[in-house]
Amino acid sequence: MQNFEPTNETRKYFSRGWISDKDHDYFWNSTHKELQSTKAVQIGSSHYCPYCVSRMFPIQNNNLDVIGYTCLCDGAMAELEWKAEDKALRERHEKEIYEIREKYVPRVQSNLEALFELKQKREKESFDFHHWNRTLFQMDSKNIIDVEDLI
Ligand SMILES: [Zn+2]
Repeated sequence: MQNFEPTNETRKYFSRGWISDKDHDYFWNSTHKELQSTKAVQIGSSHYCPYCVSRMFPIQNNNLDVIGYTCLCDGAMAELEWKAEDKALRERHEKEIYEIREKYVPRVQSNLEALFELKQKREKESFDFHHWNRTLFQMDSKNIIDVEDLI
């Protein structure tokens, strides 16, 4: 990577260090907090970017475990931008759905009490009291009869 110059956009992912008293180089900062994995193709034990087919940069956690791979080419940057835009759009969409729900929920309250009363009224109208009475007297061997046995 000698004499490698990162672009202004990707410079933050590198730290600049001296490799001799005259020359310096940029060193990949694999633990940079903003690094995000992009699509990688593994060939053998190496990871390559599917867009530019370069070896990918590893991403490491604080214990220096490799937790992903990324690339800094236009394809990889576009992949991350697409994901970010997609996420933002979905979040906005969810927020809008929540907002219309909040707008309409107070107006679409079912009158459950009135529905229950109507259901009872309809059941009473269709209830066969004659049959109920006959059944009661047929159960003369029992003094206490469960109402569920009648209806
Ligand atoms: Zn790439």
